[in-house]
Amino acid sequence: MMPAAGSGRRFDPANPKQYAPLAGSTVLECALAPFLDDARCRSIRLVLAREDPQRRRLELALGRRGAVVDGGAERCDSVLRGLVSLADGMDASDWVLVHDAARPCIARADIDQLIAQVDGRAEGGLLAVPLVDTLKRADADGSCVDTPARTGLWCAQTPQMFRLGALRAALERARAAGRVPTDEAQAMEWVGVRARLVAAGHANPKVTTPADLALAAAVLAARGGIGGGA
Ligand code: C5P
Repeated sequence: MMPAAGSGRRFDPANPKQYAPLAGSTVLECALAPFLDDARCRSIRLVLAREDPQRRRLELALGRRGAVVDGGAERCDSVLRGLVSLADGMDASDWVLVHDAARPCIARADIDQLIAQVDGRAEGGLLAVPLVDTLKRADADGSCVDTPARTGLWCAQTPQMFRLGALRAALERARAAGRVPTDEAQAMEWVGVRARLVAAGHANPKVTTPADLALAAAVLAARGGIGGGA
């Protein structure tokens, strides 16, 4: 399932980042392609803003396994809407992979690694990378006030993989309490689930600014295309 209903205003107010051109396609379609090619993905949901002008074209690209769903105000609302739509035709115990449209460099090898390390061994998991930079906390003027220890800290990525029923229940509970989890794993933490951190073996930067887009293009070019893992 892919949440892609964000406005991406930090990127370009006129053209949402998910439709920025990348590798002869768009950011969104690069992010989606490895899942469309994967027979393990029996159902696919693409969550788009209600007025998204690309909707019809993308609906066709999804084929019979897929459907477009209207997004919500926050990312977690968009994910929840996608999960509700998936519930028709899937069991509560089926795995769902939630992958951000803003991460176009996902490698098939990392999807395989995530599934291999989570299926049958954990209640869920996510791709992530250990933090390598030194962390700084800033005051209101932008001066360093603190250097938090980075031991044990990871940067969360996507896909994040949880069982459909458990993830839906966790997100519904969070929203009912007025809380906004920034990823699926946080909603699961709030109900006591410890998701497995699976180290991503391949770069998969999140596209937030035009500079990130240039980086994503370089990653895909070096790899020889979408979904590759060299
Ligand atoms: O804005 P950010 O990059 O954190 O968004 C992460 C992902 O969540 C993007 O793919 C974005 O389109 C999606 N999103 C969404 N619904 C929202 C906000 C963000 O589907 N209301």
